[in-house]
Amino acid sequence: MPEIISRCRGCHVAGQNLERVLEMEPMPLAGVFCTSLESALQAPVFPLTWVMCQECDLVQVAEDVDDSTLFAHYNYASSSVAGLVRHFQDFASFLTARYESTDRLSFLEIGCNDGVLLNRLPSHWELLGVDPSDVALRASLNSVPYRLCNRPFSLDLVLENKWEGKIDVISGSNCLAHISDLRSLFEAVALALRDGGEFWVEVHDLDALLRGSQWDTIYHEHKVEWSEQSLLRCLLPLGFTHIQTIRTPMHGGALRICFRKQKSPSSSFRRSGHTTQLLKNLRHAYENRYQTNAALSLVNAQKSGQRIAAYGAAGRANVYLNQMQQLQFDYIVDEAPLRVNKFIPRVATPILPPHQLGIHPAQFCLITAWNYQQDIIRKNPQFTGTWLTAFEEE
Ligand SMILES: [Zn+2]
Repeated sequence: MPEIISRCRGCHVAGQNLERVLEMEPMPLAGVFCTSLESALQAPVFPLTWVMCQECDLVQVAEDVDDSTLFAHYNYASSSVAGLVRHFQDFASFLTARYESTDRLSFLEIGCNDGVLLNRLPSHWELLGVDPSDVALRASLNSVPYRLCNRPFSLDLVLENKWEGKIDVISGSNCLAHISDLRSLFEAVALALRDGGEFWVEVHDLDALLRGSQWDTIYHEHKVEWSEQSLLRCLLPLGFTHIQTIRTPMHGGALRICFRKQKSPSSSFRRSGHTTQLLKNLRHAYENRYQTNAALSLVNAQKSGQRIAAYGAAGRANVYLNQMQQLQFDYIVDEAPLRVNKFIPRVATPILPPHQLGIHPAQFCLITAWNYQQDIIRKNPQFTGTWLTAFEEE
C-alpha cells in the first residue's frame, strides 16, 4: 500500500490541513499497458484520493506511490510527440524574443527531457538541463548545445554547482506534476536565481480540468494539479513576484506563468473559494458517471448483447475503463504499434489496431481520446456504428 502524504507537497503545511475532495475506485497505474491477459488481470491497484490543501489550494493525490514503481514505464521522449514539438518550438521563439536584448544569458531547464526546448534556444546562451531520466541521458550523448546534469533539481545540486544567485532564467514545463517535494524545489529555484531573475513554469491548468469535469485525467502519475492561485500561494512567500500568466492549449488547457525573484517577500492574498465550487461539480460528475448519454447508450447496447468498443488507449482510457467497470468493452483500438496487442491493466481489455473496427463491427465506439475526436472520426470511415465521446466538448 502506498503511503499517505504527511504534508502538502507545495507549501509543506501539515497533513491535517489537507481536505478530501474526491475518492475514486482503486486504480492500476495509468501509464502501464500489459503484455499478457494474465499480467493485466493481476496488475496491482492503488487507492486514489484527491485532497486540497487548505493553505495553498493545491489539489493533489494523497497516496504517494514510490517513484521507482510510478515511473518505471513512463519514459517517453518529448520529441516523438508531434503536438509537443510544436508547443516547444513556440515556447522557444517566445523566450528568444523576450530575452533578445540580453547578450549573455544563463538558462536552466528543470526536466529537460530529450532537449526538445534547449535544442531550439539561441546557442550563444549558456544552456543547462537538469533531468534524472534515462531519456535525458541518452539524448545528451549526441552533440547537444547544452550541459546536462542527470540528477533531480535540488538544493544540494545548486550548492554543489555553485549556482547560487548565478542563473538568469529557470524554466520547468510539465514536470511540476510529477515531483513529490515541490516546496524544496521552489526553494532551490529561489536560491539559484539572481535577484531579478525569472522563473517560467508550464503546468496543466486545474481550472481547465474542472470546467470540463474531466476526471479521466486524475491518476497517480499526476501527483498534483496546479491552478494559478495555488502557484501564487506557494511562490510569493518565497520571494517571487508574479509577472504574467498566459493560457495555452497544450493537453487541453495549460498555464505558462512567469515569476521574478526579488529581495523581499511579497504579501500573500486571500483564497477565493472558486476552486472549491468547481471541485464540487467534478465530484458530482464523477458520482454520476454512469448517467451520461454515452454511458447510458453503452449500458443498453451491452444488455442487448451488442459489441462495444473504445478508441485511444492512453492513460485516460486506463482511468475511464477502470472507473467504469460496469461497462465491459470488447476491445479498444489504438494507432500506436507499441500499444497494439497489449491489454489495459486490471479490466484486461485487449488493444487492437484500428482496422479491427471494420472486421469486428461494434454498435458503439467510445472515443476516450476525446480531445482528438474530429481527427479520429475522419480517419476511420470503416466504422459504421455510432461514435460516442467519454466527455462532452466544452
Ligand atoms: Zn499547501
